[in-house]
Amino acid sequence: AEVKQILDTLGIKSVNYGATTGGSKGWIETKGKELVSYSPINGKPIASVLMAEKKDYETVMTKAQEAFKTFRMMPAPRRGEMVREIGDALRENKKTLGALISLEVGKIRAEGEGEVQEMIDIADFAMGLSRRLYGPTMHSERPEHRMYEQWHPLGIVGLITAFNFPASVWSWNTLIASVCGDAIVFKPSSKVPLTSIAIQNILAPVVDKYGVESIFNMVIGTRTDVGEPMLHDKRIPLISATGSTAMGKHVGQVVGGRLGRSLLELGGNNAIIITEDADMDMAVRATLFGAVGTAGQRCTSTRRIIIHSSVKQAFVNNLISAYKQIKIGNPLVNDTLMGPLIDEEALLAMEQALKAVKASGGKILYGGERTTVNGCEGGHYVFPAVAEVKNDFPIVQSETFAPILYIIEYNGFEQALELHNDVPQGLSSAIFTTSLQYQEIFFSHKGSDCGIANVNIGTSGAEIGGAFGGEKETGGGRESGSDAWRAYMRRQTNTINWGKELPLAQGIEFNI
Ligand code: NAD
Repeated sequence: AEVKQILDTLGIKSVNYGATTGGSKGWIETKGKELVSYSPINGKPIASVLMAEKKDYETVMTKAQEAFKTFRMMPAPRRGEMVREIGDALRENKKTLGALISLEVGKIRAEGEGEVQEMIDIADFAMGLSRRLYGPTMHSERPEHRMYEQWHPLGIVGLITAFNFPASVWSWNTLIASVCGDAIVFKPSSKVPLTSIAIQNILAPVVDKYGVESIFNMVIGTRTDVGEPMLHDKRIPLISATGSTAMGKHVGQVVGGRLGRSLLELGGNNAIIITEDADMDMAVRATLFGAVGTAGQRCTSTRRIIIHSSVKQAFVNNLISAYKQIKIGNPLVNDTLMGPLIDEEALLAMEQALKAVKASGGKILYGGERTTVNGCEGGHYVFPAVAEVKNDFPIVQSETFAPILYIIEYNGFEQALELHNDVPQGLSSAIFTTSLQYQEIFFSHKGSDCGIANVNIGTSGAEIGGAFGGEKETGGGRESGSDAWRAYMRRQTNTINWGKELPLAQGIEFNI
């Protein structure tokens, strides 16, 4: 009964269209293959989508290109006001949209609602930003000249998102890009199409009110019909893509091949260093949330613990007794802490990874077995695993998108830092220590090489106010807060001569 109420409130029918140009009249009567969204909670179908075909993608793109011409001239603070109203609409729907995310992705209710809270926060942030799209003024080297920099809307932003944050990653990109004056063409992950349909329905009254049809577009389709055409499309100056490193390498190459810009938010291999003087209770709690939260399916999930040999055993004992108390089950039930994995493929990848750990000589210390939950028999549940490994095992070097935590021992602090940075990814990192010196070294030039580095805070659960993203194979992109907005605009340097002479730069004389 709750499922029906969630779907009805968010305007999701049993069969839905797969493309819209936004607003109440924007839905396109798509006739592509039917894509069924199954809940990872019990493996049952929730609803389906008739996918968009290439011609639908074309319709959306043509309209978006036209709409951008008008939208770019709307004053930015007015665009900010519109985004504020989107934030209000999300506030009204927080519980229901949060529940749909839980239903479709399998994360617990608190995390589903947390994702909507992030959307609300970024709406507020974007509204303030709409009055702060500043460019600096420079002193010209020429007399009676003025120089300044301004930021213009970029055009159409192509947005590709991963299954695990179907709502907040949409908002980080869309709400910032829209105050910047861009049109958005959003292609969600085919594993979670219903959340994106719900978002479009929540937005619709605001889109209608502000007359911004074809700015908030969405297209759900196959790689051939939608994904690849987007990457190759010269009408899209920026592709923002979140997902695996393999996907990002492909996107970067194709978009780079046409000299388009790409903003890449890819996989992580996030570690916590725990020093001999750390507060062990805090370290255990942070590790638990980081490794088990969202069933280990966050890009910032804690994958590796790099721990001083003198405290390793005590930490592992405490951690495993905490793991034993984690309630695994239906994420919609209130005291559940860990829900299912997204699908059977994810479970198989986890099992393969644990086999590889053993094959390399590692030891499984806890978990890894499948489990069933009463009333959720078709779901993909597993006990989170802890394994003792060496950092250079091939499997430890790559991201397995599942709840596996690797324990790696160190003796000297320099060694800990080396182990920490010795992976191809560079997203999030943390240190638990009470030593000021260790903390400062961790933040120094020779410290963590990641985009996010924390002290006495775990690796996951970043705030929206900072720039989010990572280095190396994480792709180098930054989204959300700070000055991440600049990626969605184009910069122009302007020089004005208000005098009667024509002096050249660098003092060059060029007279006849
Ligand atoms: P995925 O790479 O399988 O898919 C991501 C998206 O890319 C999907 O929408 C998919 O349809 C699309 N895609 C794949 N190939 C494409 C192509 N050729 N052309 C166009 N689109 C294409 O990733 P996933 O399983 O959905 O998500 C998990 C991954 O995402 C993990 O690696 C995780 O770390 C990463 N992630 C990163 C961040 C971040 O901000 N750094 C956030 C969330 C997830």
